[in-house]
Amino acid sequence: MHSISKALLAVRERIAQAERKHERAAGSVRLLAVCKKKPAAAVREAYEAGQRAFGENHLQDALPKVEALRELGLEWHFIGPVQSNKTRPISAHFDWVHSVDRLKTARRLSEQREPALGELNVCIQLNLSGEDTKSGVETVKLEELASQIAQLPRLKLRGLMVIPRPETDFESQRVPFRRLREALESLNVRGFGLDTLSMGMTGDMEAAIAEGATIVRIGTAIFGPRDA
Ligand SMILES: *Cc1c(COP(=O)(O)O)cnc(C)c1O
Repeated sequence: MHSISKALLAVRERIAQAERKHERAAGSVRLLAVCKKKPAAAVREAYEAGQRAFGENHLQDALPKVEALRELGLEWHFIGPVQSNKTRPISAHFDWVHSVDRLKTARRLSEQREPALGELNVCIQLNLSGEDTKSGVETVKLEELASQIAQLPRLKLRGLMVIPRPETDFESQRVPFRRLREALESLNVRGFGLDTLSMGMTGDMEAAIAEGATIVRIGTAIFGPRDA
């Protein structure tokens, strides 16, 4: 068996075990395979092992793969910072954007989305304090942004995403994931009807699943380490 298919099996098993351990329904956590910096051949190998949803954080690196693998009908998720001048190709080539954090880019994605492609699924990226990244909206501005995005005609607001500061200890890892879940719950109390928590990477997927992740974004555990 190829190493990518073996690694995929191991990741699926980790997810299934975490679902059981934390009393999540079997199959309630989707696996997004993050193939950034990896060649199209690696994506194809994962496809042959049954993987259909792939994540990229950099548009220029993603587009050649999206083009080369078009006939496979993959589901592509954009998970990196969304620059205003890249919204058109993102809206054309992706099914999901996890990393929306400003009304301006959300508006552009909606305006530029071809109606024939159907609604673009989006998550709002939250910046919980203490993160290194400048990406993500602050919690105090979340509800206003969510209300504005929910009104955009060609976007479907699905939920929230976070990239917390790396922690090694399980209980510390859970803290930002719990806060993301609570933010989603409070939006849903206000009637947003969101169904997606995009949280958890190779080093912290179990903690994310314990706190309610519905999509985990896994790169290293599937495709191996990336070149710096
Ligand atoms: C790279 C990346 C991942 C995957 O990280 P791994 O630690 O390799 O699993 C997940 N989410 C985002 C936003 C990323 O950029």
